[in-house]
Amino acid sequence: HEAYVSESSPSLSTEAEEDGKEKVVNLDHGDPTMYEQFWQNMGDKSMVVISGWQSMSYFSDIGNICWFLEPEFAKEVRRLHQLVGNAVTRDHHIVVGTGSTQLFQAALYALSSSGAFEPVNVVSAAPYYSSYPSVTDYLKSGLYKWAGDAYSFKGDEPYIELVTSPNNPDGFMRQAVVNRNGGVVVHDLAYYWPHYTPITYLANHDIMLFTVSKCTGHAGTRIGWALVKDKEIAKKMTKFIELNTIGVSKDSQLRAAKILQVVSDSCEHLNSREDSKNFFRHASRLMAERWDRLRDAVRQSGLFSLPEFMPESCNYFGEANTPHPAFAWSKCEGGIEDCESFLRGYNIITRSGKHFGAEAKYVRISMLDREQTFNLFVKRLSNISL
Ligand code: PMP
Repeated sequence: HEAYVSESSPSLSTEAEEDGKEKVVNLDHGDPTMYEQFWQNMGDKSMVVISGWQSMSYFSDIGNICWFLEPEFAKEVRRLHQLVGNAVTRDHHIVVGTGSTQLFQAALYALSSSGAFEPVNVVSAAPYYSSYPSVTDYLKSGLYKWAGDAYSFKGDEPYIELVTSPNNPDGFMRQAVVNRNGGVVVHDLAYYWPHYTPITYLANHDIMLFTVSKCTGHAGTRIGWALVKDKEIAKKMTKFIELNTIGVSKDSQLRAAKILQVVSDSCEHLNSREDSKNFFRHASRLMAERWDRLRDAVRQSGLFSLPEFMPESCNYFGEANTPHPAFAWSKCEGGIEDCESFLRGYNIITRSGKHFGAEAKYVRISMLDREQTFNLFVKRLSNISL
C-alpha cells in the first residue's frame, strides 16, 4: 500500500546554510520559494491592504455563474492569458478555486454522472502527478475512482483523463492518450507558462486548470482558476465549491489579482532595456541557470540521467527556448534500484518514482526551492560518486 506524500506536508528541515552533511536538503515538495527574491524586489508595488469592513460578504458577482468570483481577479486572469498567449479565455467561463487542487475535484464532480451505477474511471498517463490518485480516492466517492495509468486503461467504460502539460513530474508536453468515445479530458496546465516551457500554441481545451502556485510562486495564497467552455460544467463546478467551502477566500482573490496585475505590468518590459524586470524573463533565466548547474553536477557524479529537451520557438519570448521544468525527473544509474533511499542516505529528500506510477529508480526533485537550498543540493550532488 503506497503512502501518500502530500505536496504540501511540512518539511523536516529545509533551511540549509552550509554543507554539514547533517543538514537535510528537502526537495520533495514543489514549494516555489525561489520567486521570493523577485517579489521582495517589487516592494510595495505588490502590496494589498484590506480594511476590516471590506470583502465581508459571501458574494462577489451574483450575476455570474461563479458567483464568488471577484471581478478584479477575473479581469487579471484574462489580461495575463491575453499577454502570454498560452490559453484562450474569450469563450470560457472562469471558475475560481482554493488552489487548482479544489478545482480538480470540482471537475471530477462536474464530469461524473450522479445516475451512474459505477464510479467513472479517472486515469492519467504515467508518470502522473502523485496527488491525483489520493485526491481522487480519499473520500471513496461513488461518483469517480482512480483507475491508474492511462496507457494501460482498456475496456469501454466511461473515463476522465487528466492531461498535465507540461507534465509533473517529467516536464514533457502532453496530449490525451486514450482518445475514445465516452471519455472527457481535463487539462492541468499549471506549468504552461514561459519560464517553464516554450509557449508553442494557444490552448483552447474544454477544461483547463491553472494556479498562481506555479505561475507566480504564491502557493500559500491557495488560488487557482479553471477555464471552462461548457456553461453547465462551469455551473456544476461552482456548485461543488459552494457545497465544499461556500466560495473561495475573497482576500486571497484580491491578493492574487494584485500579483497577476504586477506580472502583467512587468510584461511591458519584454525585450526592452529593462527586460530583466519582466517576471517571466527573470524566472526563465533563473530556471535555465539552475538546469545548467544541475546538469553539470549530474555529469560530475555520473549518478543520474536526466530528460533531454529540444528548443522550440516560444510565441511569448519570440525566440527559440529550451524547456526548464519545475522538477528534475531523475533516473538513478549504476544499479541503484531505490533512488529515494539512496539520496536520503546523503540527507537529500526527494520523491520516489513509485508515487508517480513509475519505477523506484526514478525520483522527482524540485527545482523551485530557495537559492541556498538549491546551492547546497548541487554541491552535495557533485560530490557523490558511484
Ligand atoms: N496540478 C499540478 C500538476 C501540480 O503540480 C500542482 C502543485 N504541485 C497542482 C495541480 C496543485 O496546485 P495548487 O497549489 O493550485 O493546489
